Amino acid sequence: MPEETAASPKIKTRKPKQRACDEKDEKGKLCNGHLKRYYDYPKEVAALIGQNAEIYRCEFCKTLYRPDPAQQPQSYTLRN
Ligand SMILES: [Zn+2]
Repeated sequence: MPEETAASPKIKTRKPKQRACDEKDEKGKLCNGHLKRYYDYPKEVAALIGQNAEIYRCEFCKTLYRPDPAQQPQSYTLRN
């Protein structure tokens, strides 16, 4: 069942040192798009993350990525 609603963009969180998108398409192929800092985001996104937030966007599939919490100041170590 596809979920494609333009009003609610997909937002993921970057893994430590992650530079490329890890989304997969319907065939299971890795997107691997470059994550670029996204400055001029629309208000739908601002409603989710706030104004002037640090956010990245995949150049291919446009998935949004929040910064890795482990790279924030005063962070704790996250292990999986
Ligand atoms: Zn992507």
